[in-house]
Amino acid sequence: MNYHNILHDDMLNGDGMRVTLFVSGCSLHCKNCQNPCTWNFDGGISFDDDAKCEIFNELSKDYISGITLTGGHPLEPQNLGECEQLCKTIKNKFPQKNIWIYTGYKYEKIKDYSILDYVDVLVDGSYVDELRDISLKWRGSKNQRVIDVQKSRQNNQVILHCE
Ligand code: SF4
Repeated sequence: MNYHNILHDDMLNGDGMRVTLFVSGCSLHCKNCQNPCTWNFDGGISFDDDAKCEIFNELSKDYISGITLTGGHPLEPQNLGECEQLCKTIKNKFPQKNIWIYTGYKYEKIKDYSILDYVDVLVDGSYVDELRDISLKWRGSKNQRVIDVQKSRQNNQVILHCE
């Protein structure tokens, strides 16, 4: 897997102060996507041990609430395995930190993915330019939902994360 950026002290892509990983590659190509430069799976640089160390170092800081995986698209088949391994490692090393993932897929399509065992919040759905709303927190268009993954799994229905 390749990635484009690791953002430190990010306050825009989830609750609290976070470290955010922008992975490379997205096949969904939403109209007017804000990050088309991340669509190429071969773009950016290799997600190597140095990148993982950088993330773990950020997560070891008390004031960092957790990590957000975005992109690009973390749940594309080409990225899924590496992202799942990363989430699993983080939950083991930093059980008190939360994990958010942005996906262009709807929750109903991916609710049985094993990566969700490690995910606290999923922002789901493609960006739909016609439904763009700049007043929304953490998402760009009205069709997207901020989902509490573990509560949704327990209740077998979508439970939204409190804003
Ligand atoms: S899923 Fe996300 S990264 Fe992919 S095209 Fe849509 S908005 Fe852009």
